[in-house]
Amino acid sequence: MRIGALEAGGTKMVCAVGEENGRIETEIQIPTETPAVTLPKIAQFFHENSIEALGIGCFGPIDLRKDSATYGFITSTPKTAWQNCDIVGYFKKELGIPIGFDTDVNASLLGECCFGAGIGLTDCLYLTVGTGIGAGILSGGSLVHGMLHPEAGHCQVQRVPDDSYKGHCPYHPSCLEGFTCGPAMEERWGKRPNELPEDHIAWVWEADYLGQALSDYIFILSPQKIILGGGIMEQRQLFPLIRKKVSSQLNSYLRTEELNQMEAYIVPPACKGRQGILGCLRLGFAALSE
Ligand code: ZN
Repeated sequence: MRIGALEAGGTKMVCAVGEENGRIETEIQIPTETPAVTLPKIAQFFHENSIEALGIGCFGPIDLRKDSATYGFITSTPKTAWQNCDIVGYFKKELGIPIGFDTDVNASLLGECCFGAGIGLTDCLYLTVGTGIGAGILSGGSLVHGMLHPEAGHCQVQRVPDDSYKGHCPYHPSCLEGFTCGPAMEERWGKRPNELPEDHIAWVWEADYLGQALSDYIFILSPQKIILGGGIMEQRQLFPLIRKKVSSQLNSYLRTEELNQMEAYIVPPACKGRQGILGCLRLGFAALSE
């Protein structure tokens, strides 16, 4: 069974054809320009590689409410050309096959839960730390959408006492994304994150904010594992710092086997950058049985 996968990102569209077991047959990348330019190129690729279903993991915000008039739309994105773009409707019309649709982070989470660090789990959190902060949540075996979809990057955190940076989020004076996303780091330190030395105080602060947020997520969602992906998390020195902060925030209040092994509890993705496209493949497979 051949399934299409589309990882729709703000700078590029990754298109693949494969099987539900994760074997990818062919894959291309198309730059993200405007819908009028980019969508026909994607449709052409899938036309040439006949598929039975398509899974889309998409940048957002997006409308995931099946009963909504704008289900399948990219809604209020800062990428203005893509505002109110009916991406699901477009491919339904072009390809006439079942289409699975979810956030890019839920797709990454699904990829990890099918093929990576989250295999066998019913409750798992995937956080991407990069240009923005996004969270995918698996709860009781289901991807969480709720009234919209989780926007856990905008939860409030306490300012590190010496940090006078104003924050990068136009909506919140002290949210996680505003303090820790890539552009925030660059603005605060005057250097791109990957130019900062490994022992720079920037990483201690970054881990402080992420650790604060993760401990709140642990209290609320009770995940069996937390997977941290995205460009910033390529800085592997963050992992021990984050684990330490989380432990100090939890302060021994929660006692579980998982939390006794923090190295196995807060982990990088195991799919090595392939989690997004593999998750999209699974979204397409799931759409077939709906
Ligand atoms: Zn915010």
